[in-house]
Amino acid sequence: MDIYEEVKSAATIGISGHIRPDGDCVGSVMGLYLYLKKVCPDAKIQVMLEKPADVFSCIKGIDEIHTDFVSDVKNFDVFFALDAAKDRLGEAEKYFDEAEKKINIDHHISNKGCGDVNYIMPEASSTSELVYDLITDKSLLDEEIAKALYIGIIHDTGVFQYSNTSPSTLKAAAELISYGFDFPRLIDETFYEKTYLQNQILGRSLLESILFMNGRCVVSMVDKKTMNFYGANPHDLEGIVSQLRNTKGVECAIFMYQTDTLEYKVSLRSNGKVDVAKVAAFFGGGGHVRAAGATMRGTFHDIVNNLSAQIAEQLKA
Ligand code: 5GP
Ligand code: MN
Repeated sequence: MDIYEEVKSAATIGISGHIRPDGDCVGSVMGLYLYLKKVCPDAKIQVMLEKPADVFSCIKGIDEIHTDFVSDVKNFDVFFALDAAKDRLGEAEKYFDEAEKKINIDHHISNKGCGDVNYIMPEASSTSELVYDLITDKSLLDEEIAKALYIGIIHDTGVFQYSNTSPSTLKAAAELISYGFDFPRLIDETFYEKTYLQNQILGRSLLESILFMNGRCVVSMVDKKTMNFYGANPHDLEGIVSQLRNTKGVECAIFMYQTDTLEYKVSLRSNGKVDVAKVAAFFGGGGHVRAAGATMRGTFHDIVNNLSAQIAEQLKA
């Protein structure tokens, strides 16, 4: 696929990513946006995305996002869905459905491709790495595009730590840092740095976590009352599940937070023995082998029981 070929005759272009956008989602969407603004200067280009976390305010153009999903365009000539299939676009799904040409770029193995043009590469570290690959004329990259894509890559690879990091990921990152942005600061400010509040909830989640299945699984949960008490939003809970997974002996970590009465957003992490994408898909979610998620209904205990059955089956096999 050649992005420029796909959009060159378009007068209106829309771009979106998934609900509760993470670093890769924001990075890939903004990287593509900045690139398209450059190569299609006469086109009307709009990003429809939920408001990214404050740490991403360093990305150029972030204030131009239509976070209210309101647009004067009804039928975009081209509409991009990044880092997800259309069912996770939230309010942007309607724009995708009504677009003349739908393009889906993603690296989730659970995504079968929902566009007229699909570029789904499960072996890629991140959607940001895919956007980098798809910008075939690298002379069109610049510092701001590079920064956005670099942020996306570091977030989905845990700063090049996870097994999804490949030689091509590092080659892409090597090229991107050549644009000269302050990457150590970017890594610190967008990935490692936590607010006092985030650390407090992390500490509390670790303290209240429960080991089960002979120490092979760990689970923790934050309910609505607690979130309200701390004034926390879902962004404040990112990273908790990875910390749980760091527990010695643990093969699968579960973290969930309450979204409604009898409804939880579940995050799963594994060291590779358990395919959590499979577990999540069983409950209507998706993701990758080592990182996946789903929204589940029931009490905390019901959900843990249901997940455990799926995880135990895989650990037995
Ligand atoms: P997280 O646990 O950080 O929210 O997500 C881990 C991975 O699973 C990410 O790649 C994310 O896109 C994917 N994921 C999380 N929740 C869902 C979900 O409800 N449905 C699908 N299809 N993927 C999800
Ligand atoms: Mn991603």
